[in-house]
Amino acid sequence: MRVLLHTCCASCLLYPLGALREEGLEVVVFFYNPNVHPYREFRKRLVCVKDYCNAQGIAAIYNEEYELESFLGALLGKQVPERCGVCYALRLNETARVAQEKEIDAFSTTLLVSPYQHHEAIKAAGLAAAAAHGVEFVWRDWRPGYRQAHEQGRQLGFYMQGYCGCIFSEEERYRPKKRRAVQRRTQGTKNP
Ligand code: SF4
Repeated sequence: MRVLLHTCCASCLLYPLGALREEGLEVVVFFYNPNVHPYREFRKRLVCVKDYCNAQGIAAIYNEEYELESFLGALLGKQVPERCGVCYALRLNETARVAQEKEIDAFSTTLLVSPYQHHEAIKAAGLAAAAAHGVEFVWRDWRPGYRQAHEQGRQLGFYMQGYCGCIFSEEERYRPKKRRAVQRRTQGTKNP
């Protein structure tokens, strides 16, 4: 069986790729991440996945469009965790659509390896995308492999990002919490 594996970055690819192959499944990598901002960050993650797949001879499909406006439009006014749910749905729907178009039996996502993501929301988005496109969603809990894979990624010289992807997560990662809270209070918005 072939699986289209939505891939968020090279480090998160390592463990799911190995696990699916151990199950006897054939993996095709799919890079589709309009959630990664700004553009130079998007390119760094894309190039790292490409370099690894090319070096290893891994079949892959890359969507290199930088869909900033449509992505932000979909997320506007949403707070965590709803914001992340929309983000997962966008990426997994496109993965399921491409799997159906290319006649690939099933799809999955490397997001399932991260202990920092909303695992149940990813599962729900995957199952909904599967139902919408008539392609099987391969759900696995790969989180136990996260640390080992990221250590391996470091050793391989992969680009290691400091935040999830969107500009909101970049702010949450680097801007002091206190300052964010004060600004949101004065703007009358909720804390994420
Ligand atoms: S924090 Fe990550 S998962 Fe959530 S909306 Fe931003 S990029 Fe998507």
